[in-house]
Amino acid sequence: MSEGAVPLHSPEHLAARRLAETLGLPAFEPGWVWLAGAGPGDAGLVTLLGAHAIAEADVILYDALVNDALLKLARPNAELIYAGKRRGKASCKQSNISRTLVSMARKGARVLRLKGGDPFVFGRGAEEALTLARAGVAFRIVPGVTAGIGGLAYAGIPVTHRDTNHVVTFVTGHGADGGLPSLDWAAVAKGSPTLVFYMALAHADEIAQKLIEAGRERDEPAAIVSNATGGEQNVRVTTLARLADEAKTVDAPALIVIGENVRLREGLDWLGALKEGRKLDPGPLRDVGLTKAS
Ligand code: SAH
Repeated sequence: MSEGAVPLHSPEHLAARRLAETLGLPAFEPGWVWLAGAGPGDAGLVTLLGAHAIAEADVILYDALVNDALLKLARPNAELIYAGKRRGKASCKQSNISRTLVSMARKGARVLRLKGGDPFVFGRGAEEALTLARAGVAFRIVPGVTAGIGGLAYAGIPVTHRDTNHVVTFVTGHGADGGLPSLDWAAVAKGSPTLVFYMALAHADEIAQKLIEAGRERDEPAAIVSNATGGEQNVRVTTLARLADEAKTVDAPALIVIGENVRLREGLDWLGALKEGRKLDPGPLRDVGLTKAS
């Protein structure tokens, strides 16, 4: 491009702008940092506020789990910085990311920190926001669809149903030291019929063992959903006893869900019905006598 030429805005960028105007979305002011969720994978699961943030930002620091297609919404001259830890690219230290956010904002840029899923769910978004608060940098949080809810919905597994669970618990398999977090596993096993694990593939063995020791049935249904909502979504339905073996053959990112609600997939796998003509069973809980609320 010749010097001084104004870069052309893409049609995607202009469309996002028009939408933001129509809805009266807040302006992305210079010197601010917006921490936004991009959703679990399918580009359509970003929120309108998230899309607006992408379209307006001068700098975008994005994670590995963010769908690249969303970056097409960015201004043509926006600076796109990969801050992820996957895809064989160099790892970005958390402290570097926080420092970059502060220094870019202080230079007067509109800085977008774009994360997979929701920024406040197992994504260190709160840590980054606290760094901004300490530095006196103004920020906004733009929630996103978290993988543990939206990803499971694409697998046909609802996180709640009145016949299976009134409680759902989200657990990370990755403690601050990299190992399984130290939890009261007996309380977790007893207190919540449905458990959804993030970052837990490597610890599936230990998790299943702890839950079985705490009294959960070996043949309780479980599922592993990898690349949820993306083109390569893969769903394995198994049991608690077989979970660890199954987990060995699955690629990250993946969620593990344990509970009777997994059975509902027989009736709710809308994506399987769409793609493979899979027939849906309207009474998936019938055989286990759990159909009170249907
Ligand atoms: N903030 C994110 C979670 C980040 S932790 C959110 O709200 O979704 C990263 C973990 O999220 C992964 O290890 C995996 O367990 C889960 N995850 C994120 N995207 C996923 C996807 N598309 N499919 C399956 N699991 C996913």
